[in-house]
Amino acid sequence: MRISEQQLAMVDRQIKRLVESGNFYGTKLKEAGIDGVKSEEDFLNLPFSHKLDLRDAYPLGIMAVPEEQIVRIHSSSGTTGTPVIIPYTAKDVEDWAKMFKRCYEFAGITAKDRIQITPGYGLWTAGIGFQYGAEKLGAMAIPMGPGNTDKQLQFMMDVKATVLCATSSYALLLAEEIEKRGIRDRICLKKGVIGSERWGEKMRRRISAELGIELYDIYGLTEIYGPGIGINCKYDQGMHIWVDYLYLEIIDPVTGRNVPDGEFGEIVLTTLVKEGAPLIRYRTHDISRIIPGECPCGSHFPRIDVIQGRSDDMVKFNGVNFFPKQIEEILALFPEVSSEYQIRISHLERRDTLRLYVEAAVDMDFTALTKKLEIAVKNRIGFTPNVNVVEVGVLPRSEKKTKRVIDERYD
Ligand code: ZN
Repeated sequence: MRISEQQLAMVDRQIKRLVESGNFYGTKLKEAGIDGVKSEEDFLNLPFSHKLDLRDAYPLGIMAVPEEQIVRIHSSSGTTGTPVIIPYTAKDVEDWAKMFKRCYEFAGITAKDRIQITPGYGLWTAGIGFQYGAEKLGAMAIPMGPGNTDKQLQFMMDVKATVLCATSSYALLLAEEIEKRGIRDRICLKKGVIGSERWGEKMRRRISAELGIELYDIYGLTEIYGPGIGINCKYDQGMHIWVDYLYLEIIDPVTGRNVPDGEFGEIVLTTLVKEGAPLIRYRTHDISRIIPGECPCGSHFPRIDVIQGRSDDMVKFNGVNFFPKQIEEILALFPEVSSEYQIRISHLERRDTLRLYVEAAVDMDFTALTKKLEIAVKNRIGFTPNVNVVEVGVLPRSEKKTKRVIDERYD
């Protein structure tokens, strides 16, 4: 995907505004001698921006307008260290609501829907984004916030909510509670809008089946407005991204170069009209790819695939970049193996080898399974692993995040 003339002009305007504002990024650009972009080449030479920069600019160093124009701040916590603060002007808030409204519309949600919002309200961008979008659409927002499952279900039944907005884990919890309490016939939900978590196809199917609803994945991050910058349509073939507000790139996380459409890499976003805190070539660390071709819905908004993980999780083996998620997806195609697996990469006899351990029940033909898995990985990712099938229960389990990849090449 290439940057259009119009997008280029918008980036140029953003850069000039930043430099003029003298904010954190404006100063950086000025020091680098950058005062605008005239060509795609200029654009591709712009430096990336990073979450670490935003921490350096804490608390309000990235504010790019006079303070009286800021109407709100949001913050993303991050797991360690200083939080990041993003200031919004009234127009930023408005633009975000417009994008969110479009998300609901792509999901076929209308002013007649009643939208139960369970993500949290507060400093982070979740609940309030869902809320403003719903109001902009003219739907009835039910601003529950997280937790209190009894009350959630009571409201869901009494107010006859038709749309559930939730994280995937909370949607699953609610689905299980509804099942357990036998109240499914009193629930009027038709659709779920699920945000901000990486989730597997198996979990998705379970939520959808148990609640009997269509599911929509919403994309976004606090640094770039928040959730609502993209969503899948009813054809469910990737998330459309609103490129009239953002420029979307997929880069090789190692070289920083754009990858061809269809290839996986890191999502990089440039805000085209943001005022409070414009970001140029912001590295999200989310891994996805642009889905080539046109969506059956006919929309011209480009699509990205399900988020495969974080670029920090990327593994490079024999010249192929891949993500543990891709292995998970392949294993999900084989009902005879468990969801547990382990990847070990070592450097033996002057070459790198990759062993993939999977679990299967003992009465299986391990040799045939091994062969099938090797072919599946080769076809879908591009290298042949040494597959080792072990009995169910042999691989380590952990309450926290299980370590899936053990790279012994550099030990
Ligand atoms: Zn579509």
